[in-house]
Amino acid sequence: MTVNTETKTYMNYINGEWKVSDTGKTSDSFNPSNSQEVLGSFQMSSANDLDEAVKAAKAAQKAWRKLSGTARGDFLFKVAAVLEEKTEYVAEAMTKEMGKTFTEAKGETARGVAILRYYAGEGMRPVGDVIPSSDSEALMFTTRTPLGVVGVITPWNFPVAIPIWKMAPALIYGNTVVLKPASDTAVTAARVIECFHEAGLPKGVVNMITGSGSVIGQGLAEHPGVDGITFTGSNAIGKQIGRAALDRGIKYQLEMGGKNPVIVADDADLDLAVAATISGGLKSTGQKCTATSRVIVQQGVYEEFREKLIQKVSEITVGNGMEDSSWMGPVASKNQLDNVLSYIEKGKAEGAELLHGGNRVTANGLGNGYFVEPTVFDKVTADMTIAREEIFGPVLALLKVETLEEAIKLANDSEYGLSASIFTTNIGNMLEFINDMEAGLVRVNAESAGVELQAPFGGMKQSSSHSREQGRAAIEFFTSIKTVFVKK
Ligand code: NAD
Repeated sequence: MTVNTETKTYMNYINGEWKVSDTGKTSDSFNPSNSQEVLGSFQMSSANDLDEAVKAAKAAQKAWRKLSGTARGDFLFKVAAVLEEKTEYVAEAMTKEMGKTFTEAKGETARGVAILRYYAGEGMRPVGDVIPSSDSEALMFTTRTPLGVVGVITPWNFPVAIPIWKMAPALIYGNTVVLKPASDTAVTAARVIECFHEAGLPKGVVNMITGSGSVIGQGLAEHPGVDGITFTGSNAIGKQIGRAALDRGIKYQLEMGGKNPVIVADDADLDLAVAATISGGLKSTGQKCTATSRVIVQQGVYEEFREKLIQKVSEITVGNGMEDSSWMGPVASKNQLDNVLSYIEKGKAEGAELLHGGNRVTANGLGNGYFVEPTVFDKVTADMTIAREEIFGPVLALLKVETLEEAIKLANDSEYGLSASIFTTNIGNMLEFINDMEAGLVRVNAESAGVELQAPFGGMKQSSSHSREQGRAAIEFFTSIKTVFVKK
């Protein structure tokens, strides 16, 4: 490995400058592969720091929105070039802050670059419609206007892709931004913002404040200078943010949890289904909102599928994500470790059969890290906690059904509706699933995780506030429509 880690103090980014917080307090960012290793420290900011950032974003708004879309796009192309150049520097922070393997972290950084380029191009695409007026001497059309200052609150599990897939559309449509990243990945966020700084964006267009969720996150949602808030994270916090935004009458966008099912039908290609269940459920150590969690298998292939699955799961190598040999890294934090292990205990206590894994990994020098074995439960029933709550870790629950109808009913028996997959070779099964599945992302013969950046992303039920992210769909949240009527 050639990348170097320097331990340093990262600062807030306000009005184009790196600034320490007026609290004088910082917090350390630890490596989940080795909790003795500090990657860097970041500011524990105050409401005053936040206020300064929102004011800077407000002041920058007028000039930024007046730039042409192509000029704003040129800035995003520059950010993309800097980020591409710094791929290893950014990906290294990701791996050392939240444990994603270096290969996956570089892939996520490349995704960030591609998103920036996609939205840079968006600056040249049409934004409205011409609508025929009943008055033959009038011209009627729609155009789009930015919200103003957008607050961006992001989680730790995609610390590069998620901030970028929110900030890039916010910026291209003429908004300015205040980012509040997750504390577990504050160093990664700072390295991403360094790319915006180096690309030479005008002062105040992008700002970043680190600190506690209750002070900075909640403060952002409640700040009178913020005109829209976009959040990805847990349901509990999302609902709080939604309420704060409703109280202020501003637009909000919430992307939250999932309990994503895959259905394996009697006629499925089992090797494909096994590979996709493992990749969808256990990559990123199961810490994706779209991760496969419930595996619903028809009884005709249940035993064969289970055998093949366990065989492949037992081949997974767990280790420090910076090493090329490890397929799965640690979970992101001590909090995550405790949470995941407590769900495993609940699974056992409620009568599920532990088929594989279930323990913390401490051998081979991994004792200082937060490693968990890839875990598979059999004989899971719909009422068990591990079949209902989001675990957000490397845990798969197997459920057996007789018919496809029963499988879809079970898949829909969840408060969430983010992503769902089916493995089948029968077109009738595919259509029934596509029609009846209550999920925002419906996938056939493909893993539940992974959506292309140019396609709408989001869920139904408690998974999302329904306005979609990514692709062209992002325009709906980040702009308001103006209907224009012109009479000569
Ligand atoms: P989290 O809700 O704990 O934190 C998310 C962000 O909110 C962080 O920046 C945090 O500091 C901030 N925050 C915390 N308390 C706050 C408060 N009181 N007010 C305002 N902001 C506050 O979530 P997490 O643990 O970082 O991320 C994991 C969750 O994110 C999982 O539930 C996962 O499913 C979800 N997620 C969803 C998607 C999606 O697109 N649907 C994508 C990734 C992650």
